[in-house]
Amino acid sequence: MQATDHLQASLQAAIALANSFGSAERQGRPAVPPDAAAVDAILRLTTNRPPAVDPADYAIGGKTLYDALGSLPAVDRAVELVNALLKDTKAAPQLTRDGGAPWHLHFGSPDDANGWLAEFATAVATLLGSDEAERLRRCGADRCDDLFLDSTRNGNQRFCSTACQNRAKVAAHRARARTS
Ligand SMILES: [Zn+2]
Repeated sequence: MQATDHLQASLQAAIALANSFGSAERQGRPAVPPDAAAVDAILRLTTNRPPAVDPADYAIGGKTLYDALGSLPAVDRAVELVNALLKDTKAAPQLTRDGGAPWHLHFGSPDDANGWLAEFATAVATLLGSDEAERLRRCGADRCDDLFLDSTRNGNQRFCSTACQNRAKVAAHRARARTS
């Protein structure tokens, strides 16, 4: 495992957490506030050993991450929000290991929500401080506010998921059928 893989996984988790607290609609449906199982599943994107989860502990931080990422390409606004979150969560580098796993760098204690928000704020800060920030997109489908990182080489991914891509395709097909 590369040293940067953990931070990359934390970035994916940060975006998932942001979407689950920040999106009003997701994949064509009104968003429901995430329950403990949903937040647990997000933490499992980056750790094998998620702490006991109270979704309420993640709500404000998750919403802040969404507002930060969602304000891109206005990077100054995003930076302001993420810098405040780094400060609030007292993000600080710390080598940690879980069970038999190798040492890896965390930016907060992996034992509580605040530590995970510090970790996620750091992952998003790393994104904002790189030209990879240009790959952050908002889903192009109707009734979906989810954000995602474009993983295509030519930077032409428009939808958060194949579900939204298919919905958009169907909608475009219906629109064409109406006008012909
Ligand atoms: Zn979508």
